[in-house]
Amino acid sequence: MRGETIEVRCERCKSTFRARVADRARGWGRFCSKRCKAIKQTQRGGTVKGSPRKRHDGRSPMAHKVCDTCGAPAINGVYTASGIEWGCELHHDTTPITAGHGQWE
Ligand SMILES: [Zn+2]
Ligand SMILES: [Zn+2]
Repeated sequence: MRGETIEVRCERCKSTFRARVADRARGWGRFCSKRCKAIKQTQRGGTVKGSPRKRHDGRSPMAHKVCDTCGAPAINGVYTASGIEWGCELHHDTTPITAGHGQWE
C-alpha cells in the first residue's frame, strides 16, 4: 500500500488536513479527526436541506447534536465566531443568551 496523501477539507469543521488517497477512494478520510467524524455522523442528514426542524426546548438532549467537549447528546448551543458550540448537560454554557425568545426560532 502506498502512502500517498492529498489535502482535503474536513466535512465538519472545514479545516484542511492530509488524507490518504487510498482512504479517500474507499470513502474514508473525510474528516480531520475522529471527533469531527463522530459529530458529523451523529448529526446525520447533513445533505438534507430545507427539511422541517422541530423547535427545541433548550433542555432535553438533542437527537442530532452532540457535546463538543465529550460527545454526549447536546442540550444547548452557543453562537461563537467560529460557529455554534454544542454542549451537553455538563458542558453547555449556562449563561443566558437572551432574555426573551427568538434564539431558536
Ligand atoms: Zn474537522
Ligand atoms: Zn459534554
